Amino acid sequence: MQRITILGSANAVAKPGQDNTHLLIESNEKKVMVDCGDNPVAKLFAAGSSILSVTDLVLTHFHADHVGSLPLLIMDMWLEKRSYPLVIHGLRVTLDKARRMLELFNWGEWQGMFPVMFNEIPEEGAENLIVGQGMHLSVLPVLHLVPTIGIRVRFSDGRVVAYSCDTEPCPNVIQLAKGADVLLQEAAGLAKGHTSPGQAGEIATRAGVKKLVLIHYDNRVVEEDLLTAARNPFKGEVALAKDLMVV
Ligand SMILES: [Zn+2]
Repeated sequence: MQRITILGSANAVAKPGQDNTHLLIESNEKKVMVDCGDNPVAKLFAAGSSILSVTDLVLTHFHADHVGSLPLLIMDMWLEKRSYPLVIHGLRVTLDKARRMLELFNWGEWQGMFPVMFNEIPEEGAENLIVGQGMHLSVLPVLHLVPTIGIRVRFSDGRVVAYSCDTEPCPNVIQLAKGADVLLQEAAGLAKGHTSPGQAGEIATRAGVKKLVLIHYDNRVVEEDLLTAARNPFKGEVALAKDLMVV
């Protein structure tokens, strides 16, 4: 199995049926969760997975809508008697703050706690950060309000999916998305550190992707307007991410 499930597709303000943006990237051997803003536990079950099977957690940046549920996720894994180690990947500043957040809950005193390893991502990004049977995951820094990484996944059947994460248009997003089958592009709007749907279409064109999926978009805007703005500069297929959509 090689797939990406959109666990949440909302921007910072979730709404019923649409949680903050987070993803599950799966190959036979690796189950990589990307971010955990809203409570991801129920969402993983809804996606036919479980908190016990997640092998890696990538924290893209330290904003509450991307990391806010980390202590609850880890506590639930512990309560469910997980024994398998979990690797948490992130930039140094992200991991430092994540550790501090967990320490507020005295997680060092939880009896029978499973092993958690922290893997620091270099500032310049990492080629093949996570390599498993069937999957190569690389990251590059993008341009957001705090240090943030974007993601490129290559599956063994050759398919490539990129996720911009929160960012304004920048060369590294185009680099991540170069020739991808699918670009999951944030489209929060025209603001510092973010991308508008129209800019998302421009990025998709410049990167030469086959399909553009808008995510982390403003859910108060009429959906057709978001799609039209992206379709203006991009002639490939455009879709809106929805919770539990499989890419
Ligand atoms: Zn953010």
